[in-house]
Amino acid sequence: MSRSRNARPRIRLFRRRPADDLLERSFRSCPGCSAEVHVFADVCRHCGGPLEQFAS
Ligand SMILES: [Zn+2]
Repeated sequence: MSRSRNARPRIRLFRRRPADDLLERSFRSCPGCSAEVHVFADVCRHCGGPLEQFAS
């Protein structure tokens, strides 16, 4: 029995955008759930996972 299917659910509600575009919109995709979260958010409000801050 393979459990690899439940490894990481991938939600493809939108296509990946270039980083520059994300920064311009002040939003980026969460590494945990791929939801759009604000760049200054500490945690994802969708899955509650920690978000890595961009070096500025
Ligand atoms: Zn998330």
